[in-house]
Amino acid sequence: MQTISLLGATGSIGASTLDVIRRYPNDYRLVSIAGGRRVEELADIAEAFQVETVAVADVTQLDALKAALAKRNLSHVEALAGNDAMEKLASDKRVTTVVQAIVGAAGVAPTFAAAKAGKRLLLANKESVVCGGALLMDTIKANGATLLPVDSEHNAIFQCLDGARDDARQTCRLLLTASGGPFRGRKDLRGITPEEAVAHPKWSMGAKISVDSATLMNKGLEVIEAHWLFDVTPDRIDVVVHPQSVVHSAVVHEDGSMIAQLGATDMRHPIAYAMGYPKRLDAKTERLDLARIATLTFEAPDLETFPLLKMAFEALEAGGGASIVLNAANEIANAAFLARELPFTGIARTVRHMLDTFKAPAPTSVDEILALDEAVRAATREAIAANPSLRTE
Ligand code: NDP
Ligand code: MG
Repeated sequence: MQTISLLGATGSIGASTLDVIRRYPNDYRLVSIAGGRRVEELADIAEAFQVETVAVADVTQLDALKAALAKRNLSHVEALAGNDAMEKLASDKRVTTVVQAIVGAAGVAPTFAAAKAGKRLLLANKESVVCGGALLMDTIKANGATLLPVDSEHNAIFQCLDGARDDARQTCRLLLTASGGPFRGRKDLRGITPEEAVAHPKWSMGAKISVDSATLMNKGLEVIEAHWLFDVTPDRIDVVVHPQSVVHSAVVHEDGSMIAQLGATDMRHPIAYAMGYPKRLDAKTERLDLARIATLTFEAPDLETFPLLKMAFEALEAGGGASIVLNAANEIANAAFLARELPFTGIARTVRHMLDTFKAPAPTSVDEILALDEAVRAATREAIAANPSLRTE
């Protein structure tokens, strides 16, 4: 029996995870859940899964959370609030497994907490790998934690590498596939609305990652994530646009042999794989009918129109704190676009501006990561307010 803490329970990955847990009541027990601020949704999940502890990040929502639990006769359920509560759930002795599905750098501290506590860590929150880098991988190793990637591309690569010899891992190339997002093929990205940007053609996801997919920043973050998870140098990571999203990613061996993982475009698939590993769990996702799909297409990414992918490679090569600068600037610009304070094209311009102007050495502790993240966020907000050129198309 695996006992689970699900962070980001009210989100898109959270919902898919709950669906898999529901199918295997004898193998998995949900002990605790956490979310950002939506307390009614948290209380619904608490009721459906009979959890013991519920945490909300926004401390102003604690009373509302308690009231929502009481309304469902769940006053005995422990209610917690604040960022510390996320770390508490991630390192809780009652759980063997942490599903980390918080969005953004808010996930950094809980990911480290789970790593330090030696948990089985099912990681969707790619931003914590981008920010945590070598420090996170060292923390995982030093504490005997097990990282199982949930991000579909990394889950695919994990599957493709399973059983590969160590020397093969040191020479192979990684091929990340990208759907290309809703604006694939366009050369002019002016006038795009948040509604258009979040309408992803293939995947139904949270708003932030949907915008990241539309700018190709998501693929950039995934390149950095792949570098750390699989210890592969950036020159051995390639990206190819594959609009059908059937091939989830591939590993290319020294002799040119390519091993790919294919599956339905359904996040329950990689979640179930990570939950069951090394066994395979059937999440009852749609089976691929290749004859019906008939055609799979591939094309090179358009780095001129979507420069954020190139900037991610650049940040990775630059090292130091550059990946944290990239991630934090993007989070602020992405949110400003969703709030209609920045045009779509302003996201890439803002990240470019911050990479050029904010230089920082590599942090050596979690506190330093969080401090750098916070400093870049503040500087990015200031830059957007002070530079009309970032705000106009
Ligand atoms: P959603 O926006 O759907 O969900 C985000 C979750 O995080 C919600 O439960 C939200 O709570 C919670 N949350 C927000 N802020 C905080 C905080 N400060 N502390 C604790 N919890 C918080 O996002 P997704 O599920 O789409 O994505 C989650 C992560 O998984 C991201 O890192 C994303 O990149 C990654 N991922 C997602 C994929 C997908 O298909 N969706 C695919 C691959 C990776 P509330 O509801 O209250 O706001
Ligand atoms: Mg992905």
